[in-house]
Amino acid sequence: MPTIEKLSINTATTKTQFDLPQAIKSYAAAGVHGIAPWRDLVQATGPAETRRLLDGEGMTVSGLCRGGMFPAADAAGRQAAIDDNRRAIDEAAAIGAACLVLVCGSLPRGSKDIDGARTMVEDGIGAVLEEARDKNVPLAIEPLHPMYAGDRNCVNTLHQALDICDRLDPNREGGLGVAIDVYHVWWDPELVPQIRRTGKQRLLAFHICDWLIPTRDLLTDRGMMGDGVIDIPAIRAEIEAQGYLGLNEVEIFSSEDWWLRPGDIVVQTCVQRHATMV
Ligand code: ZN
Repeated sequence: MPTIEKLSINTATTKTQFDLPQAIKSYAAAGVHGIAPWRDLVQATGPAETRRLLDGEGMTVSGLCRGGMFPAADAAGRQAAIDDNRRAIDEAAAIGAACLVLVCGSLPRGSKDIDGARTMVEDGIGAVLEEARDKNVPLAIEPLHPMYAGDRNCVNTLHQALDICDRLDPNREGGLGVAIDVYHVWWDPELVPQIRRTGKQRLLAFHICDWLIPTRDLLTDRGMMGDGVIDIPAIRAEIEAQGYLGLNEVEIFSSEDWWLRPGDIVVQTCVQRHATMV
């Protein structure tokens, strides 16, 4: 079972309870020195002040959430998305994030052209890849469960994400890889061979939670590790067999349960379940 040094908490897990300074304090007080903040929290605190608070508690940033959302109905919209991703790269660099997580986006309003959206995603990532490399902020494409293919993300399997990596970075120069979130990929019959295909260099982040039966909300009813049906230790073992040295990042959107509980209790539960169920 993993030690607490491997644990990171994504601030979405305590979205209703903590702002960024409170989250940093609470996680650190529980012995958790990994964190993955969302951009709105970093912007509210300011990147420089965020860095100061993180350093003060000895925090490691497993990723900044999030860039992406590349498709748009017209060229101006696509350019605006690229510009926003450049700002996200700067913010990630300023806080020392291990990667910038990309939730890539999908169909512009009114469109039914998912292949077109996928092209826009690849073009968008390609447009910012050099800058990400220059600033030492690897881009982590996060495939999302196909239930989000219409709106949040048209990259829906690890296979698809790795194909994009192969096309944009054919010589494995780096700066581009994947975030593997058990919630999105656990069901995939190709998961294990695709993890083996990923390899250490492209394994940029590992997100954990659980899949509840039943799931009552497609977005905000993720389970705490151990409460659902995902064999998290088996997936972690495959990832670590590739040489993954990063953190295990707890990311739980839970309007029905965990967002209703006191934040410190949520953090303590993450610590306990990470030690026993991951
Ligand atoms: Zn995730």
